[in-house]
Amino acid sequence: MAAMPDTPHNQSDPQYAAKCGQIAARLLAHAGPILIVAHEDPDGDALGSVLGLARPLQKLGLDARPIATAPRYLQFLTTAGELHQPMSELPANALVCVLDCGELYRMTGLPKDLGAPIINIDHHGTNSRFGEIALVSPDRPAACIMIKDVVDALEVQSGQQLWDAHLAMPVLTGIITDTGSFRYPSTTPETLHTAAELVGHGAPLGVINENLGIQPRNYFKLQALVLSTIEYALGDLVVMAHVNEAMLSESGATWEEVEALVSVIRSAEGTYIAALFKDRGEQVKLSLRSRTPVSAQNIAVACGGGGHVPAAGATMLMPLAEARAKALAEAERELQRVGLL
Ligand code: 5GP
Ligand code: MN
Repeated sequence: MAAMPDTPHNQSDPQYAAKCGQIAARLLAHAGPILIVAHEDPDGDALGSVLGLARPLQKLGLDARPIATAPRYLQFLTTAGELHQPMSELPANALVCVLDCGELYRMTGLPKDLGAPIINIDHHGTNSRFGEIALVSPDRPAACIMIKDVVDALEVQSGQQLWDAHLAMPVLTGIITDTGSFRYPSTTPETLHTAAELVGHGAPLGVINENLGIQPRNYFKLQALVLSTIEYALGDLVVMAHVNEAMLSESGATWEEVEALVSVIRSAEGTYIAALFKDRGEQVKLSLRSRTPVSAQNIAVACGGGGHVPAAGATMLMPLAEARAKALAEAERELQRVGLL
């Protein structure tokens, strides 16, 4: 496995296995509603985690409520009526599980001032370790790996069989999406073992990949527009592109279709940093990807965001030109730090 930079951010929880058991016990003992949420604009890992925790708890007869909105390309994971609408107020005696989400400001579906006990299960190094129980493991490539371990603990403690194909599918999907289909160096032997177990539980690998690989017609129009904005900077070590509302209108695409584009520019030969600026008018959402030894996480943190070492992001409350200048200045600093500039 690629060595994880040993910053305080990226230190994993030394009590990992014990805490999986502690979380399972806390959930099994809870008498009220269990609200399960993840980060805004949910990806496969966020939605997979929410479904992967809600389904076994429901099977055990607990009042678990997954709160999320599935983007088009992940709707195959959900069943009709399964996802709950966002809540502006918490029901009495709620316990909240915040999954795949490093900061409460990135959580969606519930008011930010929760006023309820929180279980925080996440793999972002920059997670602020909030909550009554915080299980943070930056050396695991997907929160769904951690959900798999928590469900295993639920099985042991409840004595009931919980795994089936319906549960294994979203959990494997999260692992596939966050590892780039097992291509990123974050993939470990444990990742592959976990994936193998999930396939053993009936997760349909072919169906998942077929669904994830489909793009609507407008995506291709959008891709053409966004790729026409590509520029190289800092001795061609950085590749950048941007997308704005006008491009979405022109192509008929939505922000959902934008998510796949940073991976497209990331393949630019000779580059160490890929930056996609999503210009949402009042704010710019920056998506960053990096190659070893460069840390996208360092750049994102300096821009007010966070994430993983190779994939990170920030929400920048400034116009595009300013966000671009700030990101480039921080990219330059990072390239100098590792001796590439
Ligand atoms: P993406 O580029 O796919 O949106 O995000 C890459 C990684 O950076 C994800 O793990 C995501 O959680 C993190 N990330 C993206 N945007 C933000 C942000 O505004 N703040 C923080 N703290 N993390 C972010
Ligand atoms: Mn994740």
